[in-house]
Amino acid sequence: MAASLLLDDLRAALGPDAVLTDPDLLRGYERDEADLCASGTPVVVTRPRSTEEVAAVVRAAGRYGVPVVPQGARTGLAGAANAVDGAVVLSTTAMDAILEIDPVSRIAVVQPGVVNAALTAAVAEHGLWYPPDPGSWESSTIGGNVATNAGGMCCVKYGVTTEYVLGLEVVLASGEVLRTGRRTAKGVAGYDLTRLFVGSEGTLGVITEVTVALRPAPAASLTLVAVFGSTGAAGEAVARIAAQGLSPSLLELLDRTHLVAIEAYRPMGLRTDAEALLLAAADTGPRAAEDLAELAAVCTAAGAEEVYAATDAAEAAALLQARRLAHPAMEKYAADTYPGGNGGLIIDDLAVPRGALAALLDGVARIAAECAVPIGVVGHAGDGNMHPNIVVDRNDPASLERGRRAFDEIMRLGLELGGTCTGEHGVGLLKREWLAREIGPVGVRVHQAIKSALDPAGLLNPGKVL
Ligand SMILES: Cc1cc2nc3c(=O)[nH]c(=O)nc-3n(C[C@H](O)[C@H](O)[C@H](O)COP(=O)(O)OP(=O)(O)OC[C@H]3O[C@@H](n4cnc5c(N)ncnc54)[C@H](O)[C@@H]3O)c2cc1C
Repeated sequence: MAASLLLDDLRAALGPDAVLTDPDLLRGYERDEADLCASGTPVVVTRPRSTEEVAAVVRAAGRYGVPVVPQGARTGLAGAANAVDGAVVLSTTAMDAILEIDPVSRIAVVQPGVVNAALTAAVAEHGLWYPPDPGSWESSTIGGNVATNAGGMCCVKYGVTTEYVLGLEVVLASGEVLRTGRRTAKGVAGYDLTRLFVGSEGTLGVITEVTVALRPAPAASLTLVAVFGSTGAAGEAVARIAAQGLSPSLLELLDRTHLVAIEAYRPMGLRTDAEALLLAAADTGPRAAEDLAELAAVCTAAGAEEVYAATDAAEAAALLQARRLAHPAMEKYAADTYPGGNGGLIIDDLAVPRGALAALLDGVARIAAECAVPIGVVGHAGDGNMHPNIVVDRNDPASLERGRRAFDEIMRLGLELGGTCTGEHGVGLLKREWLAREIGPVGVRVHQAIKSALDPAGLLNPGKVL
């Protein structure tokens, strides 16, 4: 009864086309890209086109005590966008307008469903650049990027999403519309509510507009590849690069499992005999060649077996493309390792201080051997942000148990090394227990106080983060 009243209210507010109830369609909105995470079936998927329509959805759900799960492109890797049974899914994909690009203030104002690559292309026409570039940039939305505080390959030099979010418009659980932040170069009025919503994973409000800072387009970059005999040695090179004050515009690590997986997924001539590759780039204009030579020298001193520069822009782009294929390639690797649809991936994401990267990588290799599970490691090495990808047989309880044990051991090691349980994918469903361990009981109470102040009925993306 309540469900049919809710649907009537939603249709009246949004029109029938933006209110989807076909069971096949509903199943398509159940989950994000995280494997092995719980999900439910929504009672309805809404596709509002404006802030007013988002507020109408949130108010209608609140009237009937129904949870609301905000979703962008559902490329998330922590289950944060997964629906719960009976929820209203609020998909932002119809809110995809770039509202303003201001080259003087170097800002853009966008609706949340704008895809990262679309914003990047639009601002490039003005000679400007929006740096945060998650591997999913061709499909993930700015709203999702903000709600997860997404990172990417160039973040090692230019910073992650939060550095570029100047202001937000947010629909609160009450249906009221909050504006945070500014569009000026400076501004310190009041608490920094913008940062509170960045990374809040849809649990505190629905982001309906984002004002982002832009930079002038960077100079073309030069890229090198360094081949190492162990992941730990590559980690040591990263620490030395930082210690020497170098600022690469990209510093990514791929281990042998990933090189093999990518080569099988799309043959590109990668060195599949290498234990680890570091990809590094310098975009310092006239100094780039000098900077690249310094990066090469540090890698050699740290034990690289071979260091070579990409011969041209096409080769450099191919290397970056190889790195971007890591996720689908590992999905195929898992499927090939356990055929018949049994291959599963537990995708981890943690960050440690750069000086502890070698210890983390050596530790992951030890944990893989002890738990007898294949673990491939890839990630934004320059940020100390690694993705150990654990391959399991989803239909073998023993394999799942070993995979989960490895996951917990890696989390434990990361925290012991002074790290954090998630560098960029977010807490979602995967890391709730580890967030609580990381922030402790006082931190949990402060999180709960903020959540209940903003969402007293607990209807916004329930079960995520805390
Ligand atoms: C191949 C691949 C590569 C990836 N590479 C990276 C990477 O390099 N760096 C990285 O950080 N992540 C990466 N990811 C993870 C993912 O793409 C990011 O987390 C991305 O920011 C999610 O955006 P989305 O639009 O898909 O959001 P979704 O997955 O739909 O949602 C993510 C979270 O944001 C919330 N949300 C979405 N929109 C809103 C809104 N308007 N208001 C409030 N809450 C909202 C959801 O409720 C959910 O909690 C990758 C994923 C894939 C599949």
